[in-house]
Amino acid sequence: YGSAGSKLYVRETQCPYCSVQCKMTVEEVAGPIAGERRAMYTVEGVPNEASQGRLCVKGMNAHQHALSGQRLLKPLIRRNGELVPCSWPEAIQLITKRFASLRDRHGADTIGVYGGGSLTNETAYLLGKFARVALGTRYIDYNGRFCMSAAASAGSKVFGMDRGLTFRLSDIPRAQCIVLAGTNVAECQPTLLPYFNQAKENGAYIIVIDPRKTATAAIADLHLQVKPGMDALLANIMLKIIMEAGLVNEQFIGARTHGYEQLQNALSEIDLEEAAVQCGVDLSLIRQAAMAYGQAETGMIMTARGVEQQTDGHLAVRHFLNLVLATGKIGKPGCGYGAITGQGNGQGGREHGQKADQLPGYRSIENEQDRAYVAAVWGVEPESLPGKGVSAYEMMERVHDQEIRSLLVMGSNPVVSNPNVRLVEEGLRKLEFLVVADMFLSETAKMADVVLPVTAYLENEGTLTNLEGRVLLREQGRPAPGEARHDWDILCSIADGLGKAPYFQYGCAEDIFNELRMASRGGIADYYGMTYERLRREKGIYWPCSSLEDTGEGLLFVERFAHDDGKAAFTSELSPGWQDVSREFPLILTNGRVLPHYLTGVQTHRSPTLEARELENFVELHPAAAARNRIMDGEWVEIQSVHGSFNVRARIKENIREDTLFVPMHWGGIQNVNRATRPDLDPYCRMPGFKTAAVTIRPMRLA
Ligand code: SF4
Repeated sequence: YGSAGSKLYVRETQCPYCSVQCKMTVEEVAGPIAGERRAMYTVEGVPNEASQGRLCVKGMNAHQHALSGQRLLKPLIRRNGELVPCSWPEAIQLITKRFASLRDRHGADTIGVYGGGSLTNETAYLLGKFARVALGTRYIDYNGRFCMSAAASAGSKVFGMDRGLTFRLSDIPRAQCIVLAGTNVAECQPTLLPYFNQAKENGAYIIVIDPRKTATAAIADLHLQVKPGMDALLANIMLKIIMEAGLVNEQFIGARTHGYEQLQNALSEIDLEEAAVQCGVDLSLIRQAAMAYGQAETGMIMTARGVEQQTDGHLAVRHFLNLVLATGKIGKPGCGYGAITGQGNGQGGREHGQKADQLPGYRSIENEQDRAYVAAVWGVEPESLPGKGVSAYEMMERVHDQEIRSLLVMGSNPVVSNPNVRLVEEGLRKLEFLVVADMFLSETAKMADVVLPVTAYLENEGTLTNLEGRVLLREQGRPAPGEARHDWDILCSIADGLGKAPYFQYGCAEDIFNELRMASRGGIADYYGMTYERLRREKGIYWPCSSLEDTGEGLLFVERFAHDDGKAAFTSELSPGWQDVSREFPLILTNGRVLPHYLTGVQTHRSPTLEARELENFVELHPAAAARNRIMDGEWVEIQSVHGSFNVRARIKENIREDTLFVPMHWGGIQNVNRATRPDLDPYCRMPGFKTAAVTIRPMRLA
């Protein structure tokens, strides 16, 4: 600690929260402040092509959680029912002993690994390798299953590859029409909003599709207040109107797509009036939206969790992609599709083998060639690699059924973020051995047998891939506090204890990145041409980047799509949507985010400035719904579905549909919305239907 006024450090880093990955400097200057030996922090945005120097309130205050007095500084071990501090050798020894014992007695598949979309690419990559090589289990998946799986699987089917945006962020102001479906960028990715405002200034027509009048809807020219669960049908109606108006791009359809005729036949079955009633939106407004997008020379469609977190999320995204393809609005400036990722490394986190069915570089764990390639990079026999596992929630079901008896959780808080939380809590209690690596004693860590303290964003080095597919290097700024260690370093120690040290020899994150480059080489998400030196010099590089000379591709699909035949695929499979409310459960519960919080709030609840902005959870409901249920503004209510109930405070607002309740997802315990969400999964991507649950609401004073 230096003398008062001395600069302790100033370092360029990037925000740990959302997928924009805004660059910033954090400067730490020694106190005293008000007579105390405290430091002062100055945070400033650093211009780069993506965030252009902007920061939102989350980024400005991100350092507060890293500096929190609640950080875990030593490993904890459960003794006589209590978590008590222990040494690292003791913690690692216990973990390796218990994992080895379970593996030898019951097989490697009794151990599961649960990762996160905020981990660096290096850690996500190593976690996948750790599960398959050190443990030999097929059970690995991560919380990104709840974030991106619908858009990722849709992009892969339609285009032959999945990258969040098919265009650069800086291209947004060139679009004449922008459709934002189920995305509230104003609160979730606030530094993107100026791009849309710029587009508006340039004359763009902005359409927002959302059951609520959000801060994003406030900038729209047209807001379609769709009923939750009916997004796919809404996209179909728009496309049918565009077809009937002769606004499709026949030349593009003929040259670059297949499946259009089948789609035409399928849409001919739709009665527009009836369908609009099902969507809960006036047909004239949908027509206005369709004509605006169809007539614009350039246009973009972006989706996020509102469309994707549905049991038909995969198809819903594909129907929006049908619109993109039918109008030929992709592969040229001012055009394209974008999935607005939520988590900080939502993009990179899904590319390097953290998913149940994937190996690094987006390779398939079920493809013999892919397995052989990655096995060669890892120096193991292809036959030794386990097969495909199951999705995140399905892992929790196997935990509940005690097929999985032990779990390693890294960078995630599954007891809050999974749907149908009651089953997850019961399952985690049944585990023989739970290990959690975290910065804080999260709700999941509190249930663990061993808790391992890890470094925060200011303290570790690694790459993250933003929503554009731009890989950014985040440098280490501060030393680790106490005995906190890097996630990758912990994995190496456990692998060592399991006798797998030869496969986990890394001195730093860059060593892991260099192996990741090889493992991803020739794959869809190809990082081979990137080095730390290049990332420092060039301030970020897009994938695919296949050689040291390759500058990466910002605008995708200019001449061909990524399928072998170069064409994109329409889908003609329609979805009935979700309409399962009943007399007993007449309201639709939907969830989402609020500006000051991130994921389950493990970090943002420890930031005093952010926490002060939203101290407790709430339900937003329409005055008519409140009157029908005798609810007063500000009072506590109970919301119940067939799966469970939770309690929050009521906020009565005109901005939401009468049939819909909105509850944020950032709180655990009795305020956790996931106590009532349902466990049904999308058949294509295994995304739970977070956005639609049939519920009832009542004031707690009448309980
Ligand atoms: Fe940027 Fe997102 Fe962080 Fe806000 S939360 S500063 S938009 S990366």
